[in-house]
Amino acid sequence: MSLNHIRPWRNIYRRKSRQIMVGNVPVGGDAPITVQTMTNTLTTDVKATIAQVQAAADAGADIVRISVPDEASSKALRQIVPEVSVPIVADIHFHYKRGIEAAEAGAACLRINPGNIGDEKRVREVIKAARDHNCSIRIGVNAGSLERHLLEKYGEPCPDAMVESGLDHIKILQDNDFHKFKISCKASDVFMAAAAYQQLAEATDAPIHLGITEAGGLTSGTIKSAIGLGNLLWMGIGDTIRVSLSADPVEEVKVGYEILKSLGLRHRGVNIISCPSCARQGFDVIKTVEALEKRLEHIKTPMSLSIIGCVVNGPGEALMTDVGFTGGGAGSGMVYLAGKQSHKLGNDGMIEHIVEQVEKRAAEIEAQEVKAAE
Ligand code: SF4
Repeated sequence: MSLNHIRPWRNIYRRKSRQIMVGNVPVGGDAPITVQTMTNTLTTDVKATIAQVQAAADAGADIVRISVPDEASSKALRQIVPEVSVPIVADIHFHYKRGIEAAEAGAACLRINPGNIGDEKRVREVIKAARDHNCSIRIGVNAGSLERHLLEKYGEPCPDAMVESGLDHIKILQDNDFHKFKISCKASDVFMAAAAYQQLAEATDAPIHLGITEAGGLTSGTIKSAIGLGNLLWMGIGDTIRVSLSADPVEEVKVGYEILKSLGLRHRGVNIISCPSCARQGFDVIKTVEALEKRLEHIKTPMSLSIIGCVVNGPGEALMTDVGFTGGGAGSGMVYLAGKQSHKLGNDGMIEHIVEQVEKRAAEIEAQEVKAAE
């Protein structure tokens, strides 16, 4: 149960945006903030792309984007879309015809880059294809590929130029009576991206897709994204997110969820609260947490687990988690269930026992939710 009504310092007031549908997934309005990723296989390698989309979906991706650089990729998309369980966004650059083909191939959304999609006539053709095939559109502004006239006007990529690019394209869509769109304003510089997104959030009620582009590798990109996206989400800005990492798309999805979980904006799976460990630890905290993270990947029910090395912080943390384990002396520790001290547990076999307790608690939470919905 959320206790945010008595903990006002935890509340985030989300910007009110219009809601659109990306396939069967709502984006914007009061819909949960969705997590996206993008495949990095060759789109023409249909089997590998389907496998990667599904791996991302299994990790929790709500929407997956696929690059459509050539006609062969649009053809591959036609085979991929029916085989995957999440809506597909076709990533279109340079060739407006790929946008038309992707809409025909069953993409749920077309991502077009205003800086390189071509003149208004071409954009109108893409809009027509989107409308004919019930696709949404993402206007994907990127600081690295702004229109030449904006670079000349502003001298260099900057938030004002990015927002102007986005608003110009919103106008084209609206002038063509097309309203099923969302927008992003990405930059690899967190300051530029954050400033652009804040301006954009003021200037439109379209759903906003957040991202820090080309953020870097797993560690550096995670930190950069957590700072950039985290700040914007904390301000209530953002309806869907993609963490861009030079890493497996599954990692992007995991990081996306961790950012949302940290802000209490979305919950999925086990939120493990663990201490860094020190000489006081009653068991090997780091190895235990590593093992539990792997063993508990299958749990999708939102719940919490505290794994704390000793009694300094263990009992306090355990009071606030669904399942807790606190290290003690002489090779054993204490298990807490639903915030209450429950039973002693030897360090040997603790992983198995904790996994069992978490699975049991997850089943209880699910049963309670089913009952509440009846
Ligand atoms: S909870 Fe205990 S074991 Fe963990 S870091 Fe703190 S003092 Fe060390």
